[in-house]
Amino acid sequence: MVPTPANSTEPAADRMHTPDEELSSVVLDFVRERVALAEAPLDFPGDTAEIVALLDGLVTATGTDPATIMRLYDDHLSRTVLSADSPRFFAFIPAAPTKAALLFDMVVSASSLQGISWLEAAGAVAAENQVLRWIADAAGLPEGAGGTFVSGGSAGNLSALVVARDEGRNRLVRNHGQVARSKRLRIAVSDQVHSSVKNTFHMLDVDPFVIDMPDHRLTGQALRAALAADPEPETIVAVVATSGTTNAGIVDDLRGVGEAARDLGLWFHVDGAYGGAGILAPSVRAMYDGIELADSFVVDPHKWLFAPFDCAALLYRDPQLARAVHTQDASYLDAIHDRPGEWNPTDYAYHLTRRARGLPLWFSLVVNGTDAYRDAIESSLSLARAVARDIDAADHLDLLREPTLGVVLFRRHGWGPAEYDAWAARLLAAQVAFITSTTWEDETVGRLVFLHPGTTLEMVREVMATTRD
Ligand SMILES: *Cc1c(COP(=O)(O)O)cnc(C)c1O
Repeated sequence: MVPTPANSTEPAADRMHTPDEELSSVVLDFVRERVALAEAPLDFPGDTAEIVALLDGLVTATGTDPATIMRLYDDHLSRTVLSADSPRFFAFIPAAPTKAALLFDMVVSASSLQGISWLEAAGAVAAENQVLRWIADAAGLPEGAGGTFVSGGSAGNLSALVVARDEGRNRLVRNHGQVARSKRLRIAVSDQVHSSVKNTFHMLDVDPFVIDMPDHRLTGQALRAALAADPEPETIVAVVATSGTTNAGIVDDLRGVGEAARDLGLWFHVDGAYGGAGILAPSVRAMYDGIELADSFVVDPHKWLFAPFDCAALLYRDPQLARAVHTQDASYLDAIHDRPGEWNPTDYAYHLTRRARGLPLWFSLVVNGTDAYRDAIESSLSLARAVARDIDAADHLDLLREPTLGVVLFRRHGWGPAEYDAWAARLLAAQVAFITSTTWEDETVGRLVFLHPGTTLEMVREVMATTRD
């Protein structure tokens, strides 16, 4: 059928799905401009009253001209959104999607890809799995490893740890009989474990078994000792190692923890949501030794693998165990199940409908090549090391720990929480940087996270020079 142009005499319901050149231009012009920016502007925190006033009355019975709304978004609403992909965004964990990944994200959106099943999206799922295989190979996971892309590390940790809990429960009952069914289960973690894992424990009704380490890095030796000293070690069914921690970039002793987990019969989950991408960087790869022992592994491409939000890769050593837990059973889904040689991503996490959110990374990886990824990750590592040397050399600053990944923690002599906040507010007002402080060993300290390959040492020196004020 030949598409008919938009026509105001059409019934409103039909108009919504009619091709509209003008509407396309209004939206695509914005995108073209945004993608053409060499450096995304940081922009500003929003004023709640202003935002409420801007939005007031916009939902109407007959709608408003798209150009007007796009202008309102461009000139006002978007200016209250801090650009996580600015090379001057050093807070939390920044983002730095490649141009190819950003643009292909629009292709995914425009295609209404239902990423549930092979039946509905074979080529898209196969391409996503090609990326998962690349990650599994970098981690040294076996040929049979597989999984799916989920919305983020939180969803990945939840999905993996449900499998860990069920496996743990089954093992406990196998070894100790039906009486063990009512026992509370525990999962071992370090004191630096991510907040999403703590929330997951609450959802799964398991308790954390926290192993406090003087240097906050979980080791196999400490795990073995803690279990040996526990009166009911059989109820500890899994261990979560972090690679690396969000607050400081610490990579746990993956080999030691992984081997201890094998010996003790625990599920070994590696949360690499932030730092998992470091497996691709030769200068730090040795720290990840042992990651190949993981039963499940999460890494967020929307963090350090330069994909747009929201994208996390979730891998299992034995995907069949995940399938047994996550497959949804409904008569209308029978058509997508049990075809040999096919892959249904819905079966490997807590989700049914699924955006094929691995595709932007796939496109960018295939277009740019793996060397570009390796070099982009290495660039933030070398920047963190260079900034650490600057801090070491400054009389008014202390480096709090040698950076292992892209996170740098420092102390400014004489500053407390109010001074760090005021400093950050001045920097953001001047659009020089977005920084948030953190707590390290009970003290408020400065924290910088480097992830964007466009961040230069000069930019950071400009920021750090203002700590003298
Ligand atoms: C960011 C992060 C998470 C949570 O990931 P989301 O994508 O924000 O859900 C989990 N673990 C670690 C270590 C992280 O850095």
